[in-house]
Amino acid sequence: SGKFFVGGNWKCNGTKDSISKLVSDLNSATLESDVDVVVSPPFVYLDQVKNSLTERIEIAAQNCWTGKGGAFTGEISVEQLKDLGCKWVVLGHSERRHIIGENDEFIGKKAAYALSQNLGVIACIGELLEEREAGKTFDVCFRQMKAFADAVPSWDNLVVAYEPVWAIGTGKVATPEQAQEVHVAVRDWLSKNVSAEVASKTRIIYGGSVNGGNCAELAKKEDIDGFLVGGASLKVLPCYSYGLCQ
Ligand code: 13P
Repeated sequence: SGKFFVGGNWKCNGTKDSISKLVSDLNSATLESDVDVVVSPPFVYLDQVKNSLTERIEIAAQNCWTGKGGAFTGEISVEQLKDLGCKWVVLGHSERRHIIGENDEFIGKKAAYALSQNLGVIACIGELLEEREAGKTFDVCFRQMKAFADAVPSWDNLVVAYEPVWAIGTGKVATPEQAQEVHVAVRDWLSKNVSAEVASKTRIIYGGSVNGGNCAELAKKEDIDGFLVGGASLKVLPCYSYGLCQ
């Protein structure tokens, strides 16, 4: 459903020099025309990237504040992100949920405010290994989906990223079948709890150890509408445009 979407989440990596090199590699890469490509640099490099990266690739922030700016030391507002030319923000990433301690409600507030200001949201969900082993994968994903659903004003500008925590940064990619199973369940959840239209239009992308070697197989699954790539997005590999692997 929708245009294939590939996001590169650079996380807390890079220097002015390494990012300048990555941007120049991206600028000269051949990207399939029917794929949305978005990169998410650390806040401090957003302006550098926006000013040097081809317009073909959009930029995403890795977090935002829950409302307008003001006396919120250390936070970055949606208005500031838009001022720099950001089109997207990644919210609910597992590293923010599990390392920083953000909860569903806080993440929902951010998503609602970002969407209300026309900033697109890459809304991340996904279970821990112990939750998967306890047979709770769907419960966890549905709970996280409900928190977004309860908060957001619209689904028009929201991409869901299913990122099983056990697959992130571990080299243990979900099999195409494992990912497809959850994507179908999440789409079904959207159909029952939001609407059939939102379920069919919303892009559900997969993240967790995606790389140039496994992206083509994953992309063949009907309900995998793109990727959110971490480590492998720091190099210009075929996962930036899965079509390049075919
Ligand atoms: P890796 O691709 O490094 O596993 O990270 C995935 C991720 O967290 C993308 O947001």
